[in-house]
Amino acid sequence: MSHAAGHVFNPTILREYDIRGIVGETLTAADAHVLGQAYATMLRAAGGRKVCVGFDGRLSSPELARALADGLKRSGIEVLWIGRGPTPMMYFAVYHLATDGGLQVTGSHNPPSHNGFKMMLGKKPLYGAQIQELGQLAAEGGFTDGQGVIREAPLLDAYVDRLVQDFRPGRPLSVVWDAGNGATGEALGALTARLPGRHKLLFADIDGRFPNHHPDPTVAANLADLIAAVRGEGADLGIAFDGDGDRIGAVDGRGRIMFGDQLMQILAADVLARHPGAPILADVKTSQALFDEIERLGGRAVMGKTGHSLMKTAMVEFGAPLAGEMSGHIFYADGFYGYDDALYVAIRLLGILGQDDLSLAERRNRMAPMVNTPELRFDCPDEQKFAVIDRVKAGLAAEGAAVNAIDGVRVTTADGWWLLRASNTQAVLVARAEARDQAGLERLKQQISAKLRAAGVEPPQL
Ligand SMILES: [Zn+2]
Repeated sequence: MSHAAGHVFNPTILREYDIRGIVGETLTAADAHVLGQAYATMLRAAGGRKVCVGFDGRLSSPELARALADGLKRSGIEVLWIGRGPTPMMYFAVYHLATDGGLQVTGSHNPPSHNGFKMMLGKKPLYGAQIQELGQLAAEGGFTDGQGVIREAPLLDAYVDRLVQDFRPGRPLSVVWDAGNGATGEALGALTARLPGRHKLLFADIDGRFPNHHPDPTVAANLADLIAAVRGEGADLGIAFDGDGDRIGAVDGRGRIMFGDQLMQILAADVLARHPGAPILADVKTSQALFDEIERLGGRAVMGKTGHSLMKTAMVEFGAPLAGEMSGHIFYADGFYGYDDALYVAIRLLGILGQDDLSLAERRNRMAPMVNTPELRFDCPDEQKFAVIDRVKAGLAAEGAAVNAIDGVRVTTADGWWLLRASNTQAVLVARAEARDQAGLERLKQQISAKLRAAGVEPPQL
């Protein structure tokens, strides 16, 4: 044990699923170095010695990754430096290079001034209490010492090979891709060069300033360029990635946005054809149309908590070959490793679409028509948000409502369903509602407002 002085992280950076802060303000290279030592101490206590380190395309990422690797090395870890790429390339490295864990420097879809770390310990996501534990280890400063090493282990080629391996050839498609100048750009160029069909790439040059649009495909405005290009090219579909490539966005050939829970209807049908009766997992924000479709196809629909680390954990628990969130985190265990790789999801989607003449737009038209809101987010202080949900829950219990309380409250009524939950990552409450028609949706929104008011919160305009 060394007796280095403790180092206190800014408490705001230790979050539920990752470590994330504003570079130079709440997050520095010194933090990254200490994180390396703290992670190494935790890993060595668990018997591990070897990890991979990757980083995204942000301007601050190489420096933070270097400081992180130095911290790991100083605590006796063998570091495999896999280089710049999407977060799922780091996940892949943990399996392909048989490391005991992995760390990715990434700010995901957040503004250019932000950055952070996503971590695996063994083959599991490191999150929740373990992230707090890293903070305590850092504060105590009793890091394990040792003589580690940093080795170059560039992985991009092997990663792209692995993606291509599961491509199912079929009808050649015309696809527009939008990497949003995020970390997927280089891998995407190499990947599409090896696929049949016609591929137009938007913003595939990695640029941490995100000069074109923000790399977050859940925000409709960020898909405007993709929609215009799909229409302009007469393409079959468009695919977009978030900044670190663990979330997918898509638009059909008519330029209509398709959310994760809609794509999941197509992906689930394919997986269930090979795994009849299998459980398929989707988060609480998911359209009822997906759960109904899974059951119709003979699968077992399982509703899970929102949050990529929670989904990965639940997937193992239920033995689900496929899981997905409305946000575009989609996880394949069928033929893959059970984590969220948006490029891999794209490969599987194209493979499915190529098998027959049915376009993505036609598939979408066949889905049960639902009238729903997007994900509605509104501010609520961190110290109040869970108490608000508890009060809403108590009120619903008193009136005997049909509530699924796995993550907030998801209430089923004659009109459809509505959801109210506290975000684990931000000081916000999240709402969504879905009905068969507009009048029903309005009634559900009124219910959300009424329940919030009864819980002492002035409801936003829904
Ligand atoms: Zn991401």
